[in-house]
Amino acid sequence: MELVLRNMTEDIVLRKIDQMKNGLDCCTCEHCRLDIASYALNRLPAKYVATTQGELLSRLDTLEPQFDATVMTVILQGAMIVKLHPRHK
Ligand SMILES: [Zn+2]
Repeated sequence: MELVLRNMTEDIVLRKIDQMKNGLDCCTCEHCRLDIASYALNRLPAKYVATTQGELLSRLDTLEPQFDATVMTVILQGAMIVKLHPRHK
């Protein structure tokens, strides 16, 4: 199995945005989704792991609840900013 270097925070944030999508009260097209992700990722610590794709997915389920709460807070802030300043019409 080939090892890859991954920033787990990236997967965590994208997954969380998809889970929270309906409650975000802002546009969640691909452009806005990635804008929210960029906002969040610039404010959260990177969590790099050398892993295989399969192992990565199982690791994502072993997150500390505190980090999960922080991720949600930052995503909500990002959604608010994207809502105020969407980069498309
Ligand atoms: Zn949009």
